[in-house]
Amino acid sequence: MKVAVIGGGYAGMAAAATLAERSVPVSVFEAARTLGGRARRVEYQDLALDNGLHLLIGAYSELLRLVELVGEDPARLFLRTPLTWQIQDRLTLRAANLPAPLHLLAALLGSRGLTLGERLGAVRFMLRMRRRDYRLTNDVSVAEFLDQEGQKGRARHLLWRPLCISALNTLPEAASAQVFLHVLRDGLDGERGASDLLLPRVDLSALFPEPAARYVEARGGNVLAGERVTGVDTGDGGYLVETAGGRHAFTHVICALPPHRVNAFLVGITALAEIAETVDRLTYQPIYSVYLGFPEHVRLSTPMLGFDSALLQWAFDRGALCGQRGVIGLVISAEGTHESLPHPELAQLCYQELQQQLGTMPAPIWHRVIAEKRATFACRPGLARPPAATPLRNFYLAGDYVASDYPATLEAAVRSGVRAARLILGRRES
Ligand SMILES: Cc1cc2nc3c(=O)[nH]c(=O)nc-3n(C[C@H](O)[C@H](O)[C@H](O)COP(=O)(O)OP(=O)(O)OC[C@H]3O[C@@H](n4cnc5c(N)ncnc54)[C@H](O)[C@@H]3O)c2cc1C
Repeated sequence: MKVAVIGGGYAGMAAAATLAERSVPVSVFEAARTLGGRARRVEYQDLALDNGLHLLIGAYSELLRLVELVGEDPARLFLRTPLTWQIQDRLTLRAANLPAPLHLLAALLGSRGLTLGERLGAVRFMLRMRRRDYRLTNDVSVAEFLDQEGQKGRARHLLWRPLCISALNTLPEAASAQVFLHVLRDGLDGERGASDLLLPRVDLSALFPEPAARYVEARGGNVLAGERVTGVDTGDGGYLVETAGGRHAFTHVICALPPHRVNAFLVGITALAEIAETVDRLTYQPIYSVYLGFPEHVRLSTPMLGFDSALLQWAFDRGALCGQRGVIGLVISAEGTHESLPHPELAQLCYQELQQQLGTMPAPIWHRVIAEKRATFACRPGLARPPAATPLRNFYLAGDYVASDYPATLEAAVRSGVRAARLILGRRES
């Protein structure tokens, strides 16, 4: 058995680490020089930024398990805090020091910024969802669902709406209520630590993909960064993976490419036509990350702060998180008019919004805007997603878009990688 993993993002590295753990020979082919894909380090001047500011939660159990498997200590990698939802001075909600689910019910009841009626309404909503096991008979949009459930006013505007956009990267009017309910189930109604916020203290390549690569190589595998795969053929009862360096023979392939790149490899393989069509129907949503570099004394009141303003959704204080003093990272998820703005103008608007919300602050010394136009698939109601096991023998898919309960997240990506690897291991061992 010899497995090729195509793509060295979180899904591909999770698959490779799972195979290496069981001493299966594995080679990872990654087109870029830096591992991590959509969650990777981006160098700017002498700073290690990320292509996107990421927020993780305690419910990311597979990612946390894998981080430990490859020899890292989550306590070093993350600033972990009980759930704190702070949208400027308009809403503050903090998980209480109580067993689940009381920690959350108390947080909702004790939140500042909602009326008593809104707080009780939100608690009753969560209890109703729990009774129905977070399942819908027919998937509808989050907006329609919140209407049906009477979730209006500030609870909707300051809690459910930003939660939907952050988790699904899709506006509530277009987002899947069923996937949103999965997020509520596992994030808010899981064990107490599931709702904890995990803010990375290191860059996203150093967080998992690079330690995973060291783990794979220490167990005899190869991780080839800067090695783009140009084609995959069947041959000799297995697969031939083509790169500029030649053709390499494997018994199994895990295709861990981003969804918009997958079809270049699938189209033309008759057995995969149906999967290719499913992938083709996916549409995408952007995420913009705007970094502003201020004098070193500039900092936020908390490491992560939510915004209820025209553009900004979240601000991260990189000084508090990873020692990059004066660097504030801003997140704009999902589609919007900001997409048509030139980057310097967008950075200037972000700065103005920060000033409006936080008071006078010095002008930024530099800015860097990173626009990920296809950050995630649009998580629409009833969306069909392809399976991990394909009709082609020993050919598997991994990636955040592969069928699962989760929206496109790091946890969805690593779970899919582990699943693909276990399908291979299961066959070997059965
Ligand atoms: C800006 C941004 C912010 C985000 N914020 C969050 C967040 O806060 N929390 C969260 O959980 N998730 C977040 N996500 C989503 C998360 O980053 C993705 O779900 C996850 O990284 C997807 O991993 P993947 O391995 O499935 O795909 P990818 O990361 O896309 O990995 C695929 C890999 O394949 C490689 N590749 C492509 N073509 C070839 C080829 N021909 N040969 C070899 N290799 C190739 C690519 O270079 C890439 O490394 C965010 C995403 C973005 C873009």
